[in-house]
Amino acid sequence: MLGQSMSDFPLELQGSAVPMVSFKQVSKSYGNLVVMNALDLDIAEGEMVTIIGPSGSGKTTVLRMLMTLETINSGVIYVDGKPLTHMRNGNNLAPADERHLRKMRSKIGMCFQHFNLFPHMTALENCMEGPVHVLGLSKREARERSEELLAMVGMADKRNQHPSRLSGGQQQRVAIARALAMRPKVMLFDEVTSALDPEVIGEVTSVIRKLVSEQNLTMLMVTHQMGFAKDISDRVCFFYGGHIEEQGTPSELFGNPKKERTQQFLSAVK
Ligand code: ADP
Repeated sequence: MLGQSMSDFPLELQGSAVPMVSFKQVSKSYGNLVVMNALDLDIAEGEMVTIIGPSGSGKTTVLRMLMTLETINSGVIYVDGKPLTHMRNGNNLAPADERHLRKMRSKIGMCFQHFNLFPHMTALENCMEGPVHVLGLSKREARERSEELLAMVGMADKRNQHPSRLSGGQQQRVAIARALAMRPKVMLFDEVTSALDPEVIGEVTSVIRKLVSEQNLTMLMVTHQMGFAKDISDRVCFFYGGHIEEQGTPSELFGNPKKERTQQFLSAVK
């Protein structure tokens, strides 16, 4: 980026109100196509932020960058005050190596449109897998934690079923429990209701509502469900062409959008 050097970015974020997630001047291109242009976005601890916007505006790219599935071209992303995309090298930041990425990734839980449960494992085994093999918990501890979370998502009685025996909504609830079993600091939801039949969408949105009201989790969600975004978010960001065109509380953004592009988008999706 012109005029920007790595020494302009802090090695760590410090102070009383360090955001849980912080994108600082983050840019991403595919060849000549700039899909994210100097994005600045802070998400406070416990905040629920929703990203809305037209197809191709960069919503999924934001989540993929946080999951470290994409390398970024410039800028730094911090999670919990520590650089995610970079690591300390003396008094400078250098691109993160695989070990650093693995450590930082454990702070982030994700749920996608397609739930990707392990088909040969029961719901309970799906939830226990990460805590046992990645976190090194005993089977007993992992089972206790997983059973608690499956109960929280209303799936306790189906814990011994394999995914093929569960409906889409049930599988998505197991996927949420599986992600939470890793005790992430940040949860990402990428269009988690888009692949579901309309009649089961409510069971998944009510689990997310419950997380918002009962847990102090930091969450970032991409959704096409405007009503849900309006109900549940602390803040809504409208993306357009790889940048935040407008953001605000749900009542500001939905009730009184200031920018013409936001107004056009919202009237088209109504
Ligand atoms: P959204 O989630 O808002 O629909 P995306 O973040 O998926 O948008 O995509 C943003 C832009 O990046 C789009 O123009 C898309 O075509 C482009 N893009 C995404 N992934 C790739 C890729 N692997 N290679 C090239 N272009 C890509």
